[in-house]
Amino acid sequence: MPEIYDVVIIGGGPAGLSAGLYGSRARLDTLIIEKSKYGGQTTTTSELENYPGSIPNCTGPSLSQRMKEQAASFGTKFVKDEVASIDASSDIRIVKCKDEQYHARTVIIASGAEPAMAGFKGESEFRGRGVSYCATCDADFFTDLDVALIGGGDSALTEALYLTKFVNKLTIVHRRDAFRGTKSLQERVFDNPKIDIAWNSIPVGIVGDEIVEGLKIKNKLTGEVTTLNVNGVFVFVGLNPLSDFLKGFVDMDEKGYILTDDEMKTNIPGVFAAGDVRQKTLRQVVTAASDGAVAATSAERYIASKFGE
Ligand SMILES: Cc1cc2nc3c(=O)[nH]c(=O)nc-3n(C[C@H](O)[C@H](O)[C@H](O)COP(=O)(O)OP(=O)(O)OC[C@H]3O[C@@H](n4cnc5c(N)ncnc54)[C@H](O)[C@@H]3O)c2cc1C
Repeated sequence: MPEIYDVVIIGGGPAGLSAGLYGSRARLDTLIIEKSKYGGQTTTTSELENYPGSIPNCTGPSLSQRMKEQAASFGTKFVKDEVASIDASSDIRIVKCKDEQYHARTVIIASGAEPAMAGFKGESEFRGRGVSYCATCDADFFTDLDVALIGGGDSALTEALYLTKFVNKLTIVHRRDAFRGTKSLQERVFDNPKIDIAWNSIPVGIVGDEIVEGLKIKNKLTGEVTTLNVNGVFVFVGLNPLSDFLKGFVDMDEKGYILTDDEMKTNIPGVFAAGDVRQKTLRQVVTAASDGAVAATSAERYIASKFGE
């Protein structure tokens, strides 16, 4: 007989780790399946100053490491694998990976999201050769060099400020004439002497042979194309949900975000979703952790009513 877990959690980011903590503290036999790095997107964030209690000196990687240790200390189990599908044809759900499968009374989908591409010429080809989606990972390579950053939301502004600790000069390329990011972040960006802003502009293509030597940008109002002499281009233009592997299995919106109610229930009984992968208005560590806690609590209630435990 295969082991039957009470809760199998897909994804070991903040939502999954929080669900693991709440599940195992409720004495549920809880397994987290993570295909890549525990901590998810937080492994690509620098200073994390908007998670309550996180300042001073709290980075995304350090917070998620502590989240993992905390969940493990209450008995959460971990396995490195990539989930390919869920079979919900019987009361015991089967979470299928390439070689293994895991049996579960409930499943929490916490597979998160990944940074979206901006869509300019050369973006894919120069990825890892000057084009980056992670300031924490790559800032050091651009010490004393000039870089461009595409975006204008909270993540973009936070990472821009972090990058100025390394680079000589940073130009934010933003398609509108105002940022969307939080006002306090905007003020710090405007006050930073290392930051220039190209308003109403979009990236059109990389200049360079082997590595990035420049970025062509186009002013949307005038149509003028100019070249920024930069060695790096950091892209922070939004997210895509990591839900493709569940298309057709669970209800989603047109962008692929999973639909849930306030209790994190999906349309499939005993299957819940938490964190950035679900449709919601604010995608942050604090809301992912909150979703994970709610999903695990809902899973506990479902098990009690369905299996009488
Ligand atoms: C550059 C950047 C800066 C940010 N800065 C901040 C900030 O300052 N403050 C803040 O609060 N938030 C910040 N965020 C957002 C925050 O990181 C996310 O909201 C949060 O990580 C979402 O957590 P999650 O667990 O839902 O998803 P994720 O963190 O995306 O984790 C999902 C996990 O699931 C795994 N996974 C996916 N598919 C599968 C599969 N099929 N099988 C197994 N595992 C799978 C992934 O590998 C990943 O580890 C930032 C994000 C980025 C990209």
